[in-house]
Amino acid sequence: ASAERRVYKIASIPADGIGPEVISAGITVLQTLSKALGTFDLAIEHFDWSSATYLKTGKYIPDGGHEKLKQFDAILFGAVGAPNVPDHISLWGLRLAICQPFQQYANVRPTRVLRGTQSPLRNCKTGDLDWVIVRENSEGEYAGQGGRSHAGQPWEVATELAIFTRHAVERLLRFAFETARSRPRKLLTFVTKSNAQRNGMVLWDEVCEIVAREFPDVKLDKMLVDAMTVRMVLKPESLDTIVATNLHADILSDLAAALAGSIGIAPTSNLDPTRKNPSMFEPIHGSAFDIAGKGIANPVATFWTAAEMLAWLGEKDAAAALMECVERVCERGITTPDLGGTATTVAVTDAVCQEIEREF
Ligand code: ATP
Ligand code: MG
Repeated sequence: ASAERRVYKIASIPADGIGPEVISAGITVLQTLSKALGTFDLAIEHFDWSSATYLKTGKYIPDGGHEKLKQFDAILFGAVGAPNVPDHISLWGLRLAICQPFQQYANVRPTRVLRGTQSPLRNCKTGDLDWVIVRENSEGEYAGQGGRSHAGQPWEVATELAIFTRHAVERLLRFAFETARSRPRKLLTFVTKSNAQRNGMVLWDEVCEIVAREFPDVKLDKMLVDAMTVRMVLKPESLDTIVATNLHADILSDLAAALAGSIGIAPTSNLDPTRKNPSMFEPIHGSAFDIAGKGIANPVATFWTAAEMLAWLGEKDAAAALMECVERVCERGITTPDLGGTATTVAVTDAVCQEIEREF
């Protein structure tokens, strides 16, 4: 079997705040899994790109950084953002500076109530909330288009232009329908605000109608984003795969993570579905400076992120095995304070590693 052992090249970018703590936990668990299963190997290289290096050098990504990253099979990313760098500088300097040139146009955010954890919703049990949010990740409201004039005057104007192209909407919707098709319920909820945003969102409606014809086996369900927040809270079991614009899905997925129990458990994949460029995997949460260095950051989001990365690389069994071990540890009550427990990052990580070693 060792002859077919696959080796994946992984670029690790822990970056800021709790990023290094959770990425280190994630890599420990990945290496334990690789050793226990013996079916794949990881060649991990670390990049120290962060807000600290930006403050020293003026750059988040050094010259030649993208060419270097391109040689990897996947990127494991921590979190970017620091108290002494404006958020729009750090976000565009590192995270979006990777997503955009690498055409990671599909942002995939699975959410479910893990066994052993509790949703803040009354009567919401494991299995009642099991969603995948597909977020447009290349344009829309975060296209960076717009400008300001008359700085500081009472008549100052700022424009933030949302860009929607038929090309990008179509490829994203096709990816969303495929995601819905791959899940047992084959249900896609298409979220817009086409009653108020009468250009871009109407284009989304029109393209959706065309792409839907290719997927007669997927049930299509349309919602306006405001009503959608209500449905997520009141009828979580009525949803499965969800697709929305960059801004709308950004907001809905934070809500989704909170409804599933904690922002400390949810993963994000930034995918280039054409596989021409490496895809990037990260926990949904940010750098969380309020808890950085305290050893209490929940590593579960990064474990789930690692599982999503393995599945994308083709290691679906390893991904499922990892999530099974994570859920067993949650069931045993070994959780960090955000999930109501008292365990540290390291204690949760050790427990997951022991579970892996016991199982395989
Ligand atoms: P950023 O600017 O990078 O998005 P932020 O502080 O605005 O950072 P988050 O980092 O997502 O946003 O943090 C929001 C809240 O959730 C914080 O109170 C933080 O402590 C908590 N939190 C985030 N991630 C985790 C985690 N992995 N474990 C426990 N708590 C977390
Ligand atoms: Mg934030």
